[in-house]
Amino acid sequence: MENTKIRVRFAPSPTGALHIGGVRTALYNYLFAKRNGGEMVLRIEDTDSARFVEGAENYIIEALAWLGIKFDEGVSFGGKYAPYRQSERKEIYKTFVEQLLDSGKAYIAFDTPEFLDEKRAQIANFQYDASTRMSMQNSLVLPENEVKTKIANGEKYVVRFKIEPNEDILVNDLIRGEVKINSSVLDDKVLWKSADELPTYHLANIVDDHLMKITHVIRGEEWLPSAPLHVLLYRAFGWESTMPSFAHLPLLLKPDGKGKLSKRDGDRLGFPVFPLDWIDRKTGEKSSGYREAGYFPEALINFLALLGWNSGTEQEIFSMEELINLFSLERCSKSGAKFDYEKGKWFNHKYLQTKSAEELAEYLIPIFKQKFPDNNLQFTIYNLQLLQAIDALKERATFPQDLFDLIAFFFVAPETFNENDVKKRWKEDTAQLLTELIPVLESIENFDNEHLAEETVKSWCEEKNYNLGAVMNPFRLTLVGEMKGPQMFVITKILGKEETIKRLKYALRFLAHR
Ligand code: GLU
Repeated sequence: MENTKIRVRFAPSPTGALHIGGVRTALYNYLFAKRNGGEMVLRIEDTDSARFVEGAENYIIEALAWLGIKFDEGVSFGGKYAPYRQSERKEIYKTFVEQLLDSGKAYIAFDTPEFLDEKRAQIANFQYDASTRMSMQNSLVLPENEVKTKIANGEKYVVRFKIEPNEDILVNDLIRGEVKINSSVLDDKVLWKSADELPTYHLANIVDDHLMKITHVIRGEEWLPSAPLHVLLYRAFGWESTMPSFAHLPLLLKPDGKGKLSKRDGDRLGFPVFPLDWIDRKTGEKSSGYREAGYFPEALINFLALLGWNSGTEQEIFSMEELINLFSLERCSKSGAKFDYEKGKWFNHKYLQTKSAEELAEYLIPIFKQKFPDNNLQFTIYNLQLLQAIDALKERATFPQDLFDLIAFFFVAPETFNENDVKKRWKEDTAQLLTELIPVLESIENFDNEHLAEETVKSWCEEKNYNLGAVMNPFRLTLVGEMKGPQMFVITKILGKEETIKRLKYALRFLAHR
């Protein structure tokens, strides 16, 4: 297919929240398209009305936009092959179904569910195929007139694909190599239903890939069993020469043990399996998402990129641009990728370190507003105190939420003090020592210079022959409320002289009557 523009599609069915595996599929399609100067299409495969879920389409679009996975065409983006929502392409599929019927590659079947059940009961391992189709209620068996009359009378029917038995079908997979399967294991798949005049997944998928000039089908391993059927469909339509190349991505596996990663694993081990929060409209059940859990989109992208692909080097941190430059399907693995959630956190920690205090403030201000709705903390990203607090503690944080927990004490003075810490650190002479410390602090002219402040307090201790720890430990307790936080004179610098002394005095009063 030289000279042909590379075109890929992400083709989710809107049946609920987009699973993290689906996000990875979208990402690999995007990386492949961008690497090769190609285009990416968003097609919504919503022909199964029974599984349609309100809100799922918007969720998919929002999640991928958040992650920076961009489409060139498709639902909500437009393009010359519109409409891109399969439910709006009914008429198109109908003409292609007729084409298969006319050429004898498909046939009409009237078998009712009851009749099919009966057959299943009679015949062990029943399958609707070459070995059974002649004993069924279909246009291969019934006289033409009868078929016409039934249709005219409004009897429900389906169109089935007539699969010739005993033929080896080859699927050339760019990741797995040649996959061979014998056509006898396939059943005569339903391609279209008169009940809703809609095609099934298989027909709609093939027709649209063809019409939308898709060159590469990159999707999850769970679709590999459908590929031989798709190859046969391409052949039945006479489209072999433009058949897309296939690449089936490895499964995402449970972090512990064997098997496919499921939502239950996430619930059990405490991590999200969806990109964004999702509320099931029927049950009201809420599932958490990576965005709301405090993940940075770049961190999630980096994490997912390495679940099934590797660069062949030791490098672990990749920007989207680097991924685009390096990505190739040849470097995708055949075997499943263990979903190492801890590694995901590690990436987030790394990305958090690369953010400026101003950027992190943007994440923290909403958390402050939510935690202290009545507090008149007027945060702006220009608040020097906030920026200093972030810089002092970001190294210890993995998520913005952690950072909030680490710095909150700067903005909300402790009202009580951790009892264990008080027991351990508040000795008989502590009140005396800290009372004496107040004028020492007051004497410091430049509180912003943490080294100067430290020197002043230290030499006072030496002069008085006070044990430094006996002063500094309870001092920390008075400012933080517990034995936590960064270096003491970084704390005092950020709090400022007035607030430092205010907290010290409050603690002395509070802890005097123990
Ligand atoms: N609609 C299918 C899905 O939900 C698309 C599979 C494919 O990419 O062919 O994943």
